[in-house]
Amino acid sequence: MRSLRYERPADPAAAVAVVHDTPGAVFLAGGTNLVDHLKLGVATPDLLVDVSHLPLDTVEETADGGIRVGTNVRNSDLAAHPHVRSNYPMLSRALLAGASPQLRNLATTGGNLLQRTRCSYFRDVTTACNKREPGTGCSALGGYTRYHAVLGASEHCVATHPSDMAVALLALDAEVLVLGPDGERAVAVEDFYRPPGDTPERDTVLERDELVVGVRIPPPHTPLSTYRKVRDRASYAFALVSVAAEMTVADGTITGCRLAFGGVAHGPWRAHRAEAALLGQPPTESVFASAADAELAEATPLDGNAYKIPLLRRTVVATLRELDERRGRGESA
Ligand code: SF4
Repeated sequence: MRSLRYERPADPAAAVAVVHDTPGAVFLAGGTNLVDHLKLGVATPDLLVDVSHLPLDTVEETADGGIRVGTNVRNSDLAAHPHVRSNYPMLSRALLAGASPQLRNLATTGGNLLQRTRCSYFRDVTTACNKREPGTGCSALGGYTRYHAVLGASEHCVATHPSDMAVALLALDAEVLVLGPDGERAVAVEDFYRPPGDTPERDTVLERDELVVGVRIPPPHTPLSTYRKVRDRASYAFALVSVAAEMTVADGTITGCRLAFGGVAHGPWRAHRAEAALLGQPPTESVFASAADAELAEATPLDGNAYKIPLLRRTVVATLRELDERRGRGESA
C-alpha cells in the first residue's frame, strides 16, 4: 500500500501554491474519478490537496446576462438550478444524462471537466497505454475500440472524453476560469482540450499547478436547445455518441445554430462544418443530414466503432428535427 499525504488549504491561492511547490501533488475535489484512479494505481500522487471545501460553490448571474459557475458546484445542483433549467436547458439535460444521481451529488463542475477517459486500457495498469504511461504504446489499436474516437484521434491515442457537461458547455461558447501562480485566466472550452497528437498524456492545456475555479457561460442565444445522448443503457453509461444543439429559425430559414458532439473525440467536438452547412438553409431533414455529412466527411473509423458514424448522423438529424418540431409548437425550452 502506498502512503499519501493530505492537505486542506484555506483558500484557492494557497491550494495553487501548495501544488506549485510540491512535485507529486494533485488537486482533489469530489473524487469521483481520482479516487477510482488511486485504487486502480492509474494515479500515484504523493499529496492530495483537497479543494472541495473552498467557497467556489455558487451560480451567479453576470452583468452581461450570462452566469458564472463555481468549480465546486455539484453536478446535481447545477442541473437543478432554476436559471440553468430555464435558460440553458441543454446544459441541464447534459448534466442529468451524465451519471447516476449518487455521482451527480458528489461530482463537481471542475471535476466533470477534468475527468479522464474511460478507455479500459487506460484503467488497466497491466496494459500498454500512451496516455497513462507515455511511450508504451496504445493497446486499443488492434484491440477493443467500440467506445473510441472517430474524429481527431492520432496514431498514439484514440480515446474519447467522457464528459457530457463539457459538450453542452462547448456548444454554449463557455470559458473555463483557471487560477495559477500568476493569477487567473480564462480559456474557451474549445481551446481547453488538447488533441492527442504525440502527447496524449495531456488532456487539457492546464498546467499541473493550475486550478479550475469556475466556468463562465455567456448569455443564452436561445432557450430552445437540447442534449441527446445515445448509450448502451439508459440508466447509467457513457455516450456512444451525443449531440448538444440549439437552432434559431426565421422566415423558414436557419439563422443560427450551435452544435457539439460527445463520445466521438478526445474532447467535446464543435461541429463548425455542420453549423456552416445549416445556416441560410430551410430546416429540413435532408439539410440536417447534409450538415452531419459535412462534419463527418473526415471521420476515421476503427475496427470496432464504424457504427458511430451512421449513428451520429441519425442522432444529429433527430436532434435538429426535435428542436424544429418544438419550435413549431411554440415551445421555448
Ligand atoms: Fe491509452 Fe489512448 Fe490507447 Fe486508450 S486509446 S490505450 S487511453 S493510448
